[in-house]
Amino acid sequence: MAIPAPEIRPEAKPYWDALAEGRFQIQECKDCNNRFYYARPFCPSCMSRNVAWLPISGNGTIYSFSLVRQKGAIASAPVFVALDDGPTILSALVDCDYDKLAIGQRVKLKLMPSDNGPPIPFFTPA
Ligand SMILES: [Zn+2]
Repeated sequence: MAIPAPEIRPEAKPYWDALAEGRFQIQECKDCNNRFYYARPFCPSCMSRNVAWLPISGNGTIYSFSLVRQKGAIASAPVFVALDDGPTILSALVDCDYDKLAIGQRVKLKLMPSDNGPPIPFFTPA
């Protein structure tokens, strides 16, 4: 499966650069301690621009998921993952038994190569 390379906006370049080095990071507001994802130049909670990058584990729990079928076969499994270290983020599940997925299940980050770009963050059962 060839995953298209992401379009990298300037505010998200540190995020993609870290993924290229195998590190997963989100942003944290230094004024109100809010942790957020996706990358923004300001805190979505208090609008402060005093934000910093925070390396995190990439471990989390399935908050919700769906199975997307094409011609009867499961084509993808979009998921909301509640990260241990912060926000709930949208991604997709890979390398898993679709029949055994459950809300509350533990998952971990799984980086997948993109087409001439940085790796893309997915999740797989822990
Ligand atoms: Zn804030």
